[in-house]
Amino acid sequence: MNTAFDAIVVGSGFAGAILAERLASQASLRVLVLERRNHVAGNMFDAPDENGVLVHRYGPHIFRSDSERVIAYLSRFTEWHPYQHRVLASVDGVLVPVPFNLTSLDRLFPRETALDLRRRIAEAFPDRIGVPVSELRRHPDEALARLGQFVFDKIYRNYTLKQWGLPPEKLDFEATTRRVPVRLNEDDRYFQHRFQGLPQDGYTALFQKMLAAPGITVRTGVDALEHLKPDADRGLILADGQPFHGPVIYSGAVDALFGCRFGALPWRALRFEHESLPVTQFQPAAVVNYPNEHAFTRITEFKHMTGQVLEGRTAIAREYPLEFRPETAGSGGTEPCYPILCEESAALLKRYQEEAARIPNLHLLGRLGEYRYYDMNDIVTRALEVSDALLAALPSKTQPSSRER
Ligand code: UDP
Repeated sequence: MNTAFDAIVVGSGFAGAILAERLASQASLRVLVLERRNHVAGNMFDAPDENGVLVHRYGPHIFRSDSERVIAYLSRFTEWHPYQHRVLASVDGVLVPVPFNLTSLDRLFPRETALDLRRRIAEAFPDRIGVPVSELRRHPDEALARLGQFVFDKIYRNYTLKQWGLPPEKLDFEATTRRVPVRLNEDDRYFQHRFQGLPQDGYTALFQKMLAAPGITVRTGVDALEHLKPDADRGLILADGQPFHGPVIYSGAVDALFGCRFGALPWRALRFEHESLPVTQFQPAAVVNYPNEHAFTRITEFKHMTGQVLEGRTAIAREYPLEFRPETAGSGGTEPCYPILCEESAALLKRYQEEAARIPNLHLLGRLGEYRYYDMNDIVTRALEVSDALLAALPSKTQPSSRER
């Protein structure tokens, strides 16, 4: 490992795949990618089910971005299926758009009340298209504050409790729900980004293409932590017992890298119950949220997103959040999916970051490596920035070629 490779990348989600692709294609580095699962693409992995319906195994992934650089970069590896994501939530037996918008208001309130609230919203927020629910709850207009409380109770409180295992007050609720403001118009698109879509041939194909850059070796089914040992006291990372001096990009869980020596970071895991059904359509939108009913948070029907046209067959997945148990990670048990943003985790994270910073060639990256609730577009941006910095810092014999592939 030490002589055969110039860089080691742990994980093959966006963080790992982009770093591997950049280092290999721009600096001709020999890059080893270690992936614990038996496939690449991390949680973006998709594959056809037994009926040929393309399924996102780890839940719905809808790409969106406002960054020219991100869009141009990914578009080198895929064509796009344009798609605007729409989500409904079941509230008191009625399906309403989420983020909660003026249509949701009309569906849940008597006509006169809805009209009155619409007038108050127009007056209170003349120039805004969205408002965090916490701000609405605190609004000086009591009718609007009551609306905020209603939305909080019906849409956020129980969903958040189910999703995170913690009540909203124990979480960094603003950061957690920033993508889901209350919408002050009738726009029912879940995201507002200029560019939205899914890779035409699926995410797995996109990742395979990225990782096909000459110089990249991918080993799936390999637990990197059986080979890599950080030694912060010596400022080193050992690969199979020998110091490895090239860049090591680690996108696994940061606490696991250090054997959870300061204590385990809290992570939320998910269990997906996939089902193939002999019907053309199961539900009216790609995602239906169930804030207040059932043990699952949402049901996804993938064909709405992928645009596949298939008569008499569809595939859905129910999402059950659950506690992450480190002892079962990697053995078919729970996987860390979401960092739980709260005061305790912030303090613990800082200790791991300080430890990692003692090893100059170790770079933590991604949702698990940085313990950040990244969206896909955020991590692509970040991975490109980290690649720029690493490429710029390489010794001159491996300076990036001026040619951008
Ligand atoms: N959320 C909620 N009710 C909803 C949708 C979202 O309370 O109907 C909150 C919840 O805390 C959730 C967060 O907003 O975890 C972010 O939702 P998003 O759909 O962006 O989550 P992801 O797709 O990352 O699981």
